[in-house]
Amino acid sequence: MPAQLISGREIAATIRSDLAERVARLKADTGRVPGLATVLVGEDPASQSYVRMKNSAAKEAGIHSEQITLPADTPEAELLGLVAGLNANPDIHGILVQLPLPGQIDEQKVLEAIDPAKDVDGFHPVNVGKLSTGATDVLAPCTPWGVIQMLLRTGNSPRGKHCVVVGRSNIVGRPMASLLLRRGEGGDATVTVAHSRTPDLGAITRQADILIVAVGRPDTVTADMVRPGAVVIDVGVNRVDAPDTDRGYRLVGDVDFDGVREVASWITPVPGGVGPMTITMLLSNTVDAFERSLER
Ligand code: NDP
Repeated sequence: MPAQLISGREIAATIRSDLAERVARLKADTGRVPGLATVLVGEDPASQSYVRMKNSAAKEAGIHSEQITLPADTPEAELLGLVAGLNANPDIHGILVQLPLPGQIDEQKVLEAIDPAKDVDGFHPVNVGKLSTGATDVLAPCTPWGVIQMLLRTGNSPRGKHCVVVGRSNIVGRPMASLLLRRGEGGDATVTVAHSRTPDLGAITRQADILIVAVGRPDTVTADMVRPGAVVIDVGVNRVDAPDTDRGYRLVGDVDFDGVREVASWITPVPGGVGPMTITMLLSNTVDAFERSLER
């Protein structure tokens, strides 16, 4: 029997409607709503479209959202000044600086300037450090945090399972491993992390009860590399040529979907899998950051 599909679209819609209710309740209780500021430097079309999507999703959930767009030649000091202003703004609880930034700006410096309590992307070293030491009161990076929600909401708790993560980036692979390793709900897994220097990838991935692939290369994982009955989460998004389509390309993940779905018990499609979860967890982090600000 082919694997059951894990629909990120459906899970994201459920979480967003729960978030909208939470925001409405908070508004009734406090007279205030969570605020998200997105900062875009330059005119990269992909970044523009991500930021637009993030803003409209925030508005739909009842979150106050401000989009700040700066010209591509903005000096670093000006951006740092803007971030300082947002840190001090009591109506803003989440700050997102869209990456990549133009060359004259040191990305790490900007990420480190964001108040960790407002760091809804979870990239500030304080949040990275807290997460890797197992803290639960932390804003976690949105993509791996979304993967955890997908697992929990399909009854595939990582607890006690062997989870293999392929990829060790700061955005996906590493925080994914930290989340799976954390004590408590969504964690408590035995975790192996593989990467480009792993000699026999299949020998490692075949051990996985839950296999999470974040590489950025189509067909990195094929059916022979998956243990029968495993849960497979495909984070990858790759464009492949498709001259027969209007756009001339189609999106595929890192996993050979058609082959692997015959072996796995659950699998995420691309598109419609992990993708829709990322923005949803950004909204969730913004609401969490707002609630924590009320407690302080
Ligand atoms: P990076 O390029 O930063 O990291 C890729 C990782 O894969 C690296 O750790 C690399 O190893 C490893 N790798 C590369 N080739 C191999 C191989 N042949 N075998 C095993 N491991 C390999 O990418 P990201 O983590 O940022 O993104 C990964 C994918 O996920 C991309 O397709 C990206 O588009 C997608 N993505 C999707 C998101 C979503 O919302 N759905 C969000 C973020 C990313 P090494 O460290 O040794 O170089």
